[in-house]
Amino acid sequence: MSAGKCDHDLKYAGVLNVTQGEEVVKVVEAWRCRRCGATKVGLRGPGTLTSTDGLLELLEPSDAKWIVAVWRGIGAIPPGVAAVAARPGEVVRVETPHEGEDEFLVGPDYHLRRSSDGREPESVRSFLLDEVLTGWIDLSEWPPRILTLRPQSG
Ligand SMILES: [Zn+2]
Repeated sequence: MSAGKCDHDLKYAGVLNVTQGEEVVKVVEAWRCRRCGATKVGLRGPGTLTSTDGLLELLEPSDAKWIVAVWRGIGAIPPGVAAVAARPGEVVRVETPHEGEDEFLVGPDYHLRRSSDGREPESVRSFLLDEVLTGWIDLSEWPPRILTLRPQSG
């Protein structure tokens, strides 16, 4: 196989809607290269943004995957959403309003554990983007309600 770079041919892969009740918190969209599987992710807020706002970097095919982290609100601070590309064993930072829950170790299943004690976070949930793409997460309750629109495989 040649080491030449793929001339990516990105195709829209789907959308994940994150809401609090009927209010949109963020919309996560993904595009995937039909040739090599490289993935690009964008996060849009509820406001009107141009198409390039919120676009994250292109993730070349590797053992890193896109992880979506959601957290519940606290007091007047609304719930939030972030997407990070990471591989098992990596430590990632996600700015959440929850004390001690902003630095995470990526588990072998790509879910985020608190880096301080390796436990499951209390106020943060994480998903592989591929698990929740074409779906919906409602943060008005905790743990959040998750709906996926595509048929479950295997
Ligand atoms: Zn490609």
